[in-house]
Amino acid sequence: MRLFEGTPFDRPLRCEICEKLEGDCTCPPPEIVRTPPEEQTIVIAIEKRKRGKTVTVIRGLAADNDHAALLKQLKSTCGAGGSIQDGNLDIQGNHRETVRTLLKQQGYKLK
Ligand SMILES: [Zn+2]
Repeated sequence: MRLFEGTPFDRPLRCEICEKLEGDCTCPPPEIVRTPPEEQTIVIAIEKRKRGKTVTVIRGLAADNDHAALLKQLKSTCGAGGSIQDGNLDIQGNHRETVRTLLKQQGYKLK
């Protein structure tokens, strides 16, 4: 549902570049600007969770970082499950060294 839908403010969405209606616009999608890994300082922590579970927590990622892509890589490299939690990444189990190596390879700074 669009903002103002059903009100006089609900006008069809137009492209800001060519001013065509959204459906007619053929402009390339705007490039997503993300903070490069070199400008992100990561903290890796090993934490105990409920029922004695150990998780590797990756903190310090920029809000515009591609968390989903990084999580996918970490999960497959560690061979473990994981999730995004409040902008941090949780990887199940203790994978400090694996995570550290992968993040370094990607260019992230590590504390
Ligand atoms: Zn356009």
